[in-house]
Amino acid sequence: MNLLKYIKKLLKYNNTVDKKGCPACHSPNVIGTSFSSLKNDYSGPYHDLKTLKIGRLVQCESCKTIWFVDNSKSKVDTVPQNRLQTVEDWNNKKLEIHPEHLKVLSEIGCTPLDHYGNLKEFISIPCKCILENGQIIENAIISIQSKPPVGLMYYNNDNFFFIDQVKSIEHSDLTLPLDIRIATTKSYEISMGYAPTVVIAPNNQMYITNWTTNFFYEDGFKGKEIKIPSDQQRQLQNGIDTKNKLKEIRIIADWTAELEKIFRLKGVSSEKM
Ligand SMILES: [Zn+2]
Repeated sequence: MNLLKYIKKLLKYNNTVDKKGCPACHSPNVIGTSFSSLKNDYSGPYHDLKTLKIGRLVQCESCKTIWFVDNSKSKVDTVPQNRLQTVEDWNNKKLEIHPEHLKVLSEIGCTPLDHYGNLKEFISIPCKCILENGQIIENAIISIQSKPPVGLMYYNNDNFFFIDQVKSIEHSDLTLPLDIRIATTKSYEISMGYAPTVVIAPNNQMYITNWTTNFFYEDGFKGKEIKIPSDQQRQLQNGIDTKNKLKEIRIIADWTAELEKIFRLKGVSSEKM
């Protein structure tokens, strides 16, 4: 071992906080952490509970908390007891996107990642879904992901369906056009939790969205009618903050290399990604 490697190893050793058990042993409401933290900062022991179609479940032998570990080994999420059956259902289903639906989704286009790489574990395409039971969802996000509905996105939140529950997929009038969605992904956080983008409605009223925005419904105006204002229009008036942050309902589909190629690699991505 050369000297540099030895020093690095020494520094790593000194930085390691060898806490007993898992993160949940120390803070019971923890939702997730990085894989490296789980591995390096906590001593466990963990035992393998189940290998899933993607990733696996491990359990802390001390507090019995169950963790989902994905294949990329980047993040780990706790699996609450009331989500275990859902994870089992997700594992037993082949959540494929029907070729006919794929055509519509390609036309709509996926909303790219923002500058900060938030939500990089999801490929997200906003649309309208009609479920097999007749329910219509105007604010649906097809969510291509390599994990079950666990982690911060789904914590204590029944905001999802599986794609095999979907009968048809269409454009939603509430969805912002792709160029507007892309513009919102390029917004910078200018103050804590505030990353604004100015958009304009057909009555020339300017609105300000916050962070990446997929849907819009303000004062009767729907996403499809919204545009980016010209510099001249911007000078005439100030925008008003949008009042309605529309809840997004995620429709979970399995991540595949093919879908990644269609939506992420060939699709539009943010400049800095
Ligand atoms: Zn534990």
